[in-house]
Amino acid sequence: MEKFDVIVVGAGTGGCMAAKTSAKMGLSVCLVDCKSAESIGDKICGDAIGKHHFDNLGLSYPKGDELERVIEGIKVYSPDAETIFRLVGEGLYGFIVNRHVFGQRLLKEAIDAGATLFDSTQVLEPIIENGSVKGITAVNKKSNSKIRFEGKVIVDASGYAAVLRRKLPPEIGIDPEVDKKDEVICYREIRALRDEIEDPTFCRIHLDLNVAPGGYYWIFPKKDACVNVGLGVAAVNVFPNPKSQLYKFVLEKAMFKGSTIINGGGGMVPTRRPLDTFVGNGIVVIGDAACHVNPIHGGGMGPSMMAGKIASEVISEALMKGEPTTNALWPINVRYMKSYGTKQAGLDVFRIFLQNLTDEDINYGMRYKLIKEEDVLKAGLEGDVHLNITDATKRIFRGLGKISFLKKLYDMAKKSKKVRKIYENYPNSPDQMPLWKLKVQEIFEN
Ligand SMILES: Cc1cc2nc3c(=O)[nH]c(=O)nc-3n(C[C@H](O)[C@H](O)[C@H](O)COP(=O)(O)OP(=O)(O)OC[C@H]3O[C@@H](n4cnc5c(N)ncnc54)[C@H](O)[C@@H]3O)c2cc1C
Repeated sequence: MEKFDVIVVGAGTGGCMAAKTSAKMGLSVCLVDCKSAESIGDKICGDAIGKHHFDNLGLSYPKGDELERVIEGIKVYSPDAETIFRLVGEGLYGFIVNRHVFGQRLLKEAIDAGATLFDSTQVLEPIIENGSVKGITAVNKKSNSKIRFEGKVIVDASGYAAVLRRKLPPEIGIDPEVDKKDEVICYREIRALRDEIEDPTFCRIHLDLNVAPGGYYWIFPKKDACVNVGLGVAAVNVFPNPKSQLYKFVLEKAMFKGSTIINGGGGMVPTRRPLDTFVGNGIVVIGDAACHVNPIHGGGMGPSMMAGKIASEVISEALMKGEPTTNALWPINVRYMKSYGTKQAGLDVFRIFLQNLTDEDINYGMRYKLIKEEDVLKAGLEGDVHLNITDATKRIFRGLGKISFLKKLYDMAKKSKKVRKIYENYPNSPDQMPLWKLKVQEIFEN
């Protein structure tokens, strides 16, 4: 039996940040991961992360082997490739990291701060007593022995696996399941090209619903002539295999001729608004396990770390005051919703709208700049979708027989604002939740 103040399950970006912050606050912390210590951080990812996350979290910028590229912006291509939005600006400045080296740095920072790592340890389930989570059971993969960990607060940072969340009983109050239609299934490869990619300080995102239904494909520059190239599709009903789509439609392009594969693999990303609540008696869920991912581009490293930091700060305060009950941990919800959840919710409306468009709609929308480049940037930063529908564009769309599309776009922007308002008024305590949940359900079920 091992006993700690805080048990963090999963040493990914969110878990390492939670473990480091808790340990720095003087709590006894253990960090449990099923991977071996050396392979922690080696995750299938697009490897892109905004500079602002490092600034907000007080993390030093990647350098040396950890840094593969400094990024100045993103180029978004319309399905017919006729229109390219070149997005630049403060919020888009960022890095392409070597994900494994970055993950190892975060792990080292957590251990240096005082967290105890239990690697190669597969977490099985939560221990629940009298309506509170009191610990976890796990198995050491090297010795095949079962271990019981007891903790005052357990943090589920196990990523998409959400190993604890999925096993929580209803009385804890956290939704155990996420709808498949809110997930994107991806496949990506790191490839060495013959020549360096054009514009190597820009990430490329290609919208093409025939190739990547409900998602997109990306080409991100890495160091030398390498790229991270991948494709994600929405996991709704029947969907194509993202690897087959990547090979059939993307790797066939001239720039990949003669390229060689360095590494390939798949993964899932939850691309929706955050869970309604991520806290219960003795438990907090963060990162992918709590759907802390940008619904539009699927970036989740930054928000998972943000959630890890917020969670640990509140856990420390709660433990100083007494028991880590749902009420005591509630400020985690409030703070996360304020700093990122509201934006995520606004963008979720936009995501659902985009997933239901046709390539033709997107081509026209981008060609006639129904959303201006600077507004795409603003939407990405704040979740506020601002339209650029002028009398001239109305005439053009009427001429194209697509005026109803403008109406739908307008309704979506209105709905996105309404959702943001609801999230701005996130309840300050759990007793106001039922009414708030009803408002959210009503708008998303519509
Ligand atoms: C193809 C792809 C591309 C992406 N591109 C980007 C991008 O460019 N930028 C970006 O910001 N985000 C991107 N993301 C999302 C990003 O990877 C995640 O949002 C982020 O890693 C979430 O961090 P996390 O800490 O919640 O979980 P993770 O980083 O997934 O960490 C979870 C940890 O839990 C451990 N674990 C799981 N189950 C158990 C268990 N039973 N017992 C013990 N340990 C367990 C795992 O080994 C892992 O170490 C991408 C995701 C995918 C799949």
